[in-house]
Amino acid sequence: PGAEPPKLYPATLSGAASDTINNATRNRAMRDLMVSIHSKTLWALLSGIQELSAISDYDALTNIKNRRGLSKALQAMGDDDAGEAIALMIDIDHFKRINDTYGHAAGDECLRQVAERIQQSVRTTRHDDVLYRYGGEEFAAILQGSDEPTAHQVAERIRQKVAGQPFQLPGGESIHITVSVGVGQDLVEADQALYAAKRNGRNQVVCSCHARLDDLKQQQNALWP
Ligand code: GH3
Ligand code: MG
Ligand code: MG
Repeated sequence: PGAEPPKLYPATLSGAASDTINNATRNRAMRDLMVSIHSKTLWALLSGIQELSAISDYDALTNIKNRRGLSKALQAMGDDDAGEAIALMIDIDHFKRINDTYGHAAGDECLRQVAERIQQSVRTTRHDDVLYRYGGEEFAAILQGSDEPTAHQVAERIRQKVAGQPFQLPGGESIHITVSVGVGQDLVEADQALYAAKRNGRNQVVCSCHARLDDLKQQQNALWP
């Protein structure tokens, strides 16, 4: 007597009905708790996936974006930009010799330093995020809003920046490194130009516009010998 019934339930309820409501309340609370735990777990999982996805766009050795990052960037470029982008393919000359002579760790250090110099050379262009590690000792740069003559200048700047000063190895040695660069309207053209640069003797820039010009000259000679 005198004790007040729980506020939630009218005093008129029978014991059985009150138990049913207690169970329902407990079930609801449990369900809310589970939903809350699930959504927190889900949130943590989603954030983790997002973070992993961002990390996996980058190359751990050089800290620049990797080929996956490049694919994403190319997909993200609108059709409107497509015509304005010029591609550069950059490959370190005789890199295998560096590994063979000074060891793989020294090779890694060279890769890091070469990437840094190339990054410094392309930074002055409109976009920061243009350089990618395409494969082992090969880099790709996408210069949006550029044209072939300008891209050719950027490529020449890269070549000089790498060849201009020796690289310091962790063991104290100082070595000279050169790169060959291909310039084209897409990656395939740039890659073909890169191979031409290698064939011509390395440490040079070849623009696919020159190859197109040669083709034009040959066509003209065939028409008006
Ligand atoms: P070329 O002038 O024709 O390009 O000759 P190259 O020796 O640079 O080319 P090749 O394809 O013969 O050798 C590339 C070498 O790059 C072989 C491979 O072991 C090395 N390499 C690739 N990725 C890495 C890396 O992450 N670290 C190190 N240290 N070496 C790597
Ligand atoms: Mg090479
Ligand atoms: Mg290569």
